Amino acid sequence: MANYADIVEKARIAFNSNQTKSLHLRKHHLRQLLKLLNENSSDLQLALASDLRKSKQEAVLFEIEYLKNDIVNALGSVESWMKTERPDKPLINIMDDVLIHKDPYGVVLVMGAWNYPLQLTLLPVIGAIAAGNSVVIKPSEIAPATAKLIAELVPKYLNRDAFPVILGGVEETTQLLKQRFDYIFYTGSTSVGKIVRAAANEYLTPVTLELGGKSPLYIDGTVNMDIAVKRIIWGKCINAGQTCIAPDYILCTRQIQNTFVEKAKQLIKTWYTDDPKNSPDFCRIVSEKHFVRLLDLMTNSGSIAVGGRHDKKDLYIEPTILTDVKPTDPIMKEEIFGPILPIVIVDNAYDAINFINNRSKPLTLYVFSSDQEMQNLFMRQTSSGSFCVNDTVSHYAVENLPFGGVGLSGMGAYHGKHTFDTFTHRKSCLVKDFNIIGESFSSAKYPPYSDKKLSM
Ligand code: NAD
Repeated sequence: MANYADIVEKARIAFNSNQTKSLHLRKHHLRQLLKLLNENSSDLQLALASDLRKSKQEAVLFEIEYLKNDIVNALGSVESWMKTERPDKPLINIMDDVLIHKDPYGVVLVMGAWNYPLQLTLLPVIGAIAAGNSVVIKPSEIAPATAKLIAELVPKYLNRDAFPVILGGVEETTQLLKQRFDYIFYTGSTSVGKIVRAAANEYLTPVTLELGGKSPLYIDGTVNMDIAVKRIIWGKCINAGQTCIAPDYILCTRQIQNTFVEKAKQLIKTWYTDDPKNSPDFCRIVSEKHFVRLLDLMTNSGSIAVGGRHDKKDLYIEPTILTDVKPTDPIMKEEIFGPILPIVIVDNAYDAINFINNRSKPLTLYVFSSDQEMQNLFMRQTSSGSFCVNDTVSHYAVENLPFGGVGLSGMGAYHGKHTFDTFTHRKSCLVKDFNIIGESFSSAKYPPYSDKKLSM
């Protein structure tokens, strides 16, 4: 195991010796990261295909291009993001300088997840660099090809001391978390999120926890069902359902369920052929452990209305829809994170809202309805990290919207400028001079005290 204390110390020296802080250096590091993505796109696509059998389109759209756009945006905006703010000041400070200085935290740790192993590792890094920090980068060992490639490429393009990459699993992460960081940004499961937060408590290190959970989807009879089915099945099938904001389960009436299932069956055939196993567009489950877990959930919950075929050797599970699912079934007890979509019957929207509010707060809540009152009802009566009406997943790409969870689905948020803000300490500053008029304004504060001074 590498000497983590040494690695973090070097990153701290790099930070303290101003190797990351100036606008010029921040832009230089961002450009280098852009260069890394441009010059190694094919290898990155191969690594993503090796880890998840990701198609070229999903690798380019959701990982490589997504990151490139974020870098270009940061390059164009970082100068204005960094600008010191001058808030309104009270009369007593009229002679003073009152400002908010944007301080980088220092040495930050970014721990990525395996499902979008490139994007979810480097997206926080972009904001951390823009904010002027040193960054210890820890990709997920569960996507080994991408993790290895990140570890090979980053030192070729970025300052090795300021931006070290650490590989490893539970044991390495446990040791790494014993170090003192100035900020920790973690993407992954809620259970490990709790471990990360407990470790951060040792030094009262602030954390962002981008976690998971079951994101519900409610659909009623006012929708354009052809479009709705496309948007829902797309959100569930990209990356074979291994997306933190994939719709986890559907809540609807029995009548809606029947129409949805029929249309979804046809759509899956159109998109992925009669046998989605042969479609180049459909990903694989990341590991045997997750495959076995998913199979267990699928075979012990509700009944299979669409799909259900699987192949352990190929880590393949076809797009599957389960009906007659009971709230007590195993599949309703944990986040699915796979291409299985259970439908739970509810009587109406109020029933659905109760169902949602009786469970832990989801990362995202989806509502499919053309009725604006219904949309507003869900928006006001439920709590979730994000909320999306009549589409799935797409809200993630709106960079001006902060992305994050609430309750057990996480704390903190990022994307676009919000990532810069996450990795920036807003330092309140009051700067006075020795002007005699300014001094007279505040002379009442000095002893000897008197009632006259109190009334001034
Ligand atoms: P995980 O939390 O199981 O693993 C993440 C990392 O934690 C691994 O790399 C592992 O080395 C480390 N780890 C595991 N056990 C540990 C321990 N006991 N001590 C210290 N470190 C430990 O999560 P995962 O399987 O990689 O991710 C799946 C989850 O992540 C899902 O719940 C999903 O919803 C969530 N997720 C959330 C987002 C988001 O943006 N909110 C994005 C992707 C995934």
